[in-house]
Amino acid sequence: MKNGRSKGQATAHDDPPSVVTAALPTVFGPAAEAVQVGLYIQQNGIFRYVNPFLARQFGYAIGELIGQRGPLDLLLAAADSFYLDTHSGADAGVSACEAMARRRDNSVFPVRIVSAPLMFGGRAATVGTVLDLSAQRAAEDKVRELANFDALTGLPNRRLLLDRLQQQVAAAEREAAPFALLSLDLDNFKRINDSFGHRVGDELLCAVAKRIGMAVRRIDTLARLGGDEFILVMPGANAAGAADLACRLIDACNKPFVIAGHDLTVTPSLGVTIFPQDGKDIGILLRNADVAMYKAKEQGRNTFQFYTAEMNAATFERLMLESSLRRAVRNAELELHYQPQINLANGRIVGVEALVRWRHPELGLIMPDRFIHVAEETGLINPIGDWVLGEACRQARAWMAAGLPPLVMAVNVAPEQFRQGGFVAAVAGALAGSGLDPDLLELEVTERTLMHDAEAHIGTMTALHRMGVELSLDDFGTGYSSLAYLKRFPVGKLKIDRSFVNDLEHDPDDRAIASTIVNMGRSLRLAVLAEGVETCEQLALLRTMGCELAQGFLFSRPLPAGEIIELLRQQPFLNKE
Ligand code: C2E
Ligand code: MG
Ligand code: MG
Repeated sequence: MKNGRSKGQATAHDDPPSVVTAALPTVFGPAAEAVQVGLYIQQNGIFRYVNPFLARQFGYAIGELIGQRGPLDLLLAAADSFYLDTHSGADAGVSACEAMARRRDNSVFPVRIVSAPLMFGGRAATVGTVLDLSAQRAAEDKVRELANFDALTGLPNRRLLLDRLQQQVAAAEREAAPFALLSLDLDNFKRINDSFGHRVGDELLCAVAKRIGMAVRRIDTLARLGGDEFILVMPGANAAGAADLACRLIDACNKPFVIAGHDLTVTPSLGVTIFPQDGKDIGILLRNADVAMYKAKEQGRNTFQFYTAEMNAATFERLMLESSLRRAVRNAELELHYQPQINLANGRIVGVEALVRWRHPELGLIMPDRFIHVAEETGLINPIGDWVLGEACRQARAWMAAGLPPLVMAVNVAPEQFRQGGFVAAVAGALAGSGLDPDLLELEVTERTLMHDAEAHIGTMTALHRMGVELSLDDFGTGYSSLAYLKRFPVGKLKIDRSFVNDLEHDPDDRAIASTIVNMGRSLRLAVLAEGVETCEQLALLRTMGCELAQGFLFSRPLPAGEIIELLRQQPFLNKE
């Protein structure tokens, strides 16, 4: 790139201008006078001709330019201008340059000058055109802005963020200095959009962006990725600095925003990652910040979470389980194991609880505690629950057909299943399909199910009760059953949660709770079963309390149908005396 001044000669005002000025319009004709582009002839660095348009462009009178000044007097410091190209061949001597020009009032604007050699008055000269590039540059800037900034808030967008992050990573690696990346998402923002409309939502986003922007340092990059998702990059910040800022951002958001006359409050959830420990790659860092942010949401929102590797493992497992659970029912990967329930008065197995397992083709046998909650959150619990119900009824009927005495088949029901409209019909269908007597089916629901929407469930429970299906309250003691509800719900059995049985020998509080539940059952005429009985001492204590039924590893672990049939036949726990 050659510099502009190297081309021009000295600004010597050697020739008297008056001779040529008068003659020029006739040389160029009226076209040059009227054309809407700056046009000039210069010789030895001095204008010999300028058209009216050029004079207007620069804010001079024609007489102030011709013979008085040359092109270089109108251009800014030479370093800012450069030649674009110099032609050869037929165009020999034609050259183009872009430079910053200065008007008479000292304001500057970008120009493109194209000049060509010309013989003028018998001597070498150049003729040039001056094009004002202001509009073009403004359009280019706008395009650049649109490409790099979020139109709503004016914050950097994902594209610019990635660009800055790349620079940040390079700098951090060079200086071995960490930086923090925070992912911020507003809690329940959708609700604001839904209730107040998008315009209010948009205004709120701008207000939030402004407030966050004021809380961060000038060297930090705050970007909006879309929706209510923001990313903050903090060069040089360590975990303590990031935590400090996260707290300040939460505080800043928690003060109400007044938008269109509404007092709106939003709470953010933040995930924090530190480079390089939480990811050496931008993509991983961003993803892990999101993982941590979702964890913050899980933990009740309006809070922040540091990323940990375990989180990622948990998220990965969840995603993996969710996708493969979808095909589990279809591919018949689920199976039921059965755990006997013993009547303590005579030691007879009076029922079994059906417990679902998932035989995953790659991961082997997966226990329900690992996948039932995923099934519940994704709605897959309904097809799974339907399958369990149908299979348990079919198995119970098959045992009877094989000559075993009637047994109660207890089946666990998730809250979501219970809420589903067609649940009573699904139970009726499973009974009809298998031919099992409704008296032999027991549904285990937890306090969680009942307390959630008690009034709505009374109808469902009453319908099931009328069909002759027994209901038992599983994990009893861990929820918040109101005694009043216990009286109103047609529940026939309480299952003392394993956590109270676990430590029965050593913990007097657990003993008091277990014995209270047993007594309560007696007064309300409910059967009581103790879950998770593992030792003879626990069993002895439960007996002295008057507990009627028990279930636990002391008797048997849950077993596949083919194995438990032996226990059912042999009845090995019958009292010998
Ligand atoms: P739950 O209904 O309370 O089932 C009892 C759990 O305690 C079973 O765990 C059983 O294996 C375990 N258990 C029984 N005796 C003992 C013992 O002596 N010691 C110990 N440590 N544990 C014992 P499992 O099979 O892993 O099931 C866990 C939970 O998953 C169940 O708790 C139930 O809430 C749920 N679940 C199982 N099958 C289903 C199903 O088909 N549908 C639904 N919705 N939930 C199910
Ligand atoms: Mg159960
Ligand atoms: Mg239980």
